Amino acid sequence: MDKQPSYLELLQTGELERRVLRLEALLARCTVCPRDCLNNRLENELAACYSGRLAVVSSFTPHFGEEPALVGTGGAGNIFFGNCNLRCVYCQNYQISQTHKEQVKNEVTHERLAEMMLELQERGCHNINFVSPTHFAPQMARAVLLAARRGLKLPIVYNTNAYDSVEVLRLLEGIVDVYLPDLKYAEDEAGYLYSKVRGYTEYARRAICEMYRQMGDELVTGEDGLLKRGLVIRLLVLPNDLAGVRESLEWIRESLGPRVAVSLMAQYYATNRAGTDERYIMLSRRITESEWLRALSMLDELGMEEGWMQEYDGAAHYYRPDFTDREEPFKDIRDFNRARDQV
Ligand code: SF4
Repeated sequence: MDKQPSYLELLQTGELERRVLRLEALLARCTVCPRDCLNNRLENELAACYSGRLAVVSSFTPHFGEEPALVGTGGAGNIFFGNCNLRCVYCQNYQISQTHKEQVKNEVTHERLAEMMLELQERGCHNINFVSPTHFAPQMARAVLLAARRGLKLPIVYNTNAYDSVEVLRLLEGIVDVYLPDLKYAEDEAGYLYSKVRGYTEYARRAICEMYRQMGDELVTGEDGLLKRGLVIRLLVLPNDLAGVRESLEWIRESLGPRVAVSLMAQYYATNRAGTDERYIMLSRRITESEWLRALSMLDELGMEEGWMQEYDGAAHYYRPDFTDREEPFKDIRDFNRARDQV
């Protein structure tokens, strides 16, 4: 029988509630992410992420565009948070992440957020996949507590841009079952130019080291073959090598090891300001097939052993919130390595 999610053990001992209270205390002078805005979100003072006391949920639905180990037959149970602590000029979900005035109408109580989780469980989803949870980590934890009391038993996936506070991640230990961080850039300058945030690479690497401390490199799967616990690092290949994929892969290999799962993504397309603003001309097109093949060859060259890669053709539509196609968008890196060894 599968081991139950560890938040249920924390629930039994009372530790889950203590953690939630400590996370919520961070909202009074907000240090929930590395921006450290110090605004009082409990009084709905807004700062860089335009988010106050309550979570904003733009939609929640079974989703089939994630990695296969999260999707299965019932889909990942995605909960798309509105607003964001980054301002990526190419954000593929900018309609929900960068429209805070419209998102106010999507504020939900903690109880409603817990109900959404239970509804996704009822609909047969295999996990609860919180998309862009960083700025709502305390509200997310509170909702996990409420839902766990009412019978939630699915793994919690923390699907993040990785601009996360290490202190918050420590408080999430045992609440989150699967960390799914992006590692967007290998240089802070790129983070500042394209996501409007300082020190992205340094903070993201620190955050991923903390996730690794909690999870190690083992992917724990259940009897259904789906992911129950672990760390998967996503790398979105950007045009003109702006993401620094080689440097990020080298860092992962050297700092964490070749068995850490990575997910190499080809789905970039020019949208939001990247599609219209001349300052971002380097981001104004899809990646070419040769850029994609170069990124794939790095996986091979660096001997990365675990994870997934998208198919180049058609990848651009896989991550949209309304993606419901059941066609498999990812290949397993181990199959890729086996095919290579047979050549
Ligand atoms: S979560 Fe929002 S308010 Fe808090 S520090 Fe980050 S950007 Fe600022």
